[in-house]
Amino acid sequence: MRRAIVLGASMAGLMAARVLSDHADEVLVIERDTSEESSKPRPGVPQGSQVHALLPSGHAQLDRWFPGFTAEAIAAGAMNPEPETIRNYVNGVLRPLPPRDSLGKSLVSTRPFLESLVRRRTLAIGNIRLIHGRADGIDFTGDRVSAVRYQPTDGPLTTEGADLVVDATGRSSRLSDWLGAAGRPQPTMRRMPIKLNYASALFKQDPKISDIGISIAQNHPGSGQPPRQGGVLAVEGDRWLVLVAGYADDRPTRDLEDFRKRCREDFPPAFGQIADHGELIGDVVTYHQADSRRRDYDQLERIPAGLIVAGDAVASFNPVYGQGMTSATLHASCLSAYLRSGPSLDEPARAYFDEVRVVVDAAWQVSTFADLELPHVDGPYPRGYRLVKWISGLVFQAAAGDPRVNVQFNRVTTMLDHPSALARPQTLLRALRWKLLASTP
Ligand SMILES: Cc1cc2nc3c(=O)[nH]c(=O)nc-3n(C[C@H](O)[C@H](O)[C@H](O)COP(=O)(O)OP(=O)(O)OC[C@H]3O[C@@H](n4cnc5c(N)ncnc54)[C@H](O)[C@@H]3O)c2cc1C
Repeated sequence: MRRAIVLGASMAGLMAARVLSDHADEVLVIERDTSEESSKPRPGVPQGSQVHALLPSGHAQLDRWFPGFTAEAIAAGAMNPEPETIRNYVNGVLRPLPPRDSLGKSLVSTRPFLESLVRRRTLAIGNIRLIHGRADGIDFTGDRVSAVRYQPTDGPLTTEGADLVVDATGRSSRLSDWLGAAGRPQPTMRRMPIKLNYASALFKQDPKISDIGISIAQNHPGSGQPPRQGGVLAVEGDRWLVLVAGYADDRPTRDLEDFRKRCREDFPPAFGQIADHGELIGDVVTYHQADSRRRDYDQLERIPAGLIVAGDAVASFNPVYGQGMTSATLHASCLSAYLRSGPSLDEPARAYFDEVRVVVDAAWQVSTFADLELPHVDGPYPRGYRLVKWISGLVFQAAAGDPRVNVQFNRVTTMLDHPSALARPQTLLRALRWKLLASTP
């Protein structure tokens, strides 16, 4: 194709641009945020100050599209923690970790740092060009998208023709409104109201306080109270990024004392030691996400040709499961599979949307099925909910005692395997055997 245009230069847009550079003479990326490339949070990605974990599946995709990415990231300061410094607690009880080679390496950093590396690698490709401006709409020729309208930062409203347009403008994407305004069918938006509240703060690392590389903790107070989540990540610049999170009316504030109290009282001792004795860098930053949401473009009777949607613009999940950036990389992989199949760009990209649905369904199942357990979430309950809940509950319990079930469970939660892998006979039988033995006195 001659020209592809990508709207949004965050994780999904940059990954899509990387894939498109193999198939188009020219790729234009239109981004409204004019921040210079930097490893500091930027206004266009307001969640950037919060803890962002890259799951192993996303990590593998970054190495696939940008050979040598891991080595470069580590050389630039990203952490690759030793297994003995990684901990996962539920109600203060340490859960066993699967062997490292079953999941691949970990790459830990702040979100802006990771995005800046992806951006640098993407924009170094000769046929990709970044334009600063706000996308304002799309134009059609017959049944296909043929151009993008945008307001450049330093010029008049412009219309640019394209053979393919990718919407990667995030969860507040206006594409559906643009389709509606043009009299085209709009996708249904499904929402689950999770009401999640985050607060994160950076501390200077100090080996006298702790050796933590990654620590994740969930605390379930029971009796109808929502759980609290915490996380400590050792990130670039010899810092710890510490997270405390609650649901519904349980809102961590920007007050340092509130932050410290939560670290001390809700999570394992290292959280409190870091928050109480570590040197704070900057402020406590809060973030609220009202819902998980997905837009079912694949269900549209008529999708315009020449249109792709990727990343949070398709689906955005409860961030505690860390699926967003990895989903964006997998959508890029779907785009690559679609383009390599030699499609006619004058036909709707159904094959792309069908593949993306598999990725979205998998992530949606893992996060929303778990979220249906939250006391303030009362649906929507999908078909087969009880059965899937029973299977995942069984596997979750057995994972604490059976190493092979543990590997399978972790491969699903890190998006290396599809959730249906939990229902494979060999996994189910091992989990059942474990339950039987565990209940025998
Ligand atoms: C609190 C929180 C914690 C999270 N933690 C994790 C985690 O641990 N792991 C993980 O993988 N994911 C996490 N996520 C999710 C992750 O942030 C998103 O999934 C990811 O950023 C999606 O990337 P995206 O490119 O689709 O969208 P975004 O990152 O939202 O980027 C959209 C881009 O489009 C640009 N844009 C918007 N409108 C326009 C326009 N009209 N014209 C031009 N440009 C436009 C924006 O400036 C921005 O650059 C978290 C999210 C939140 C809220």
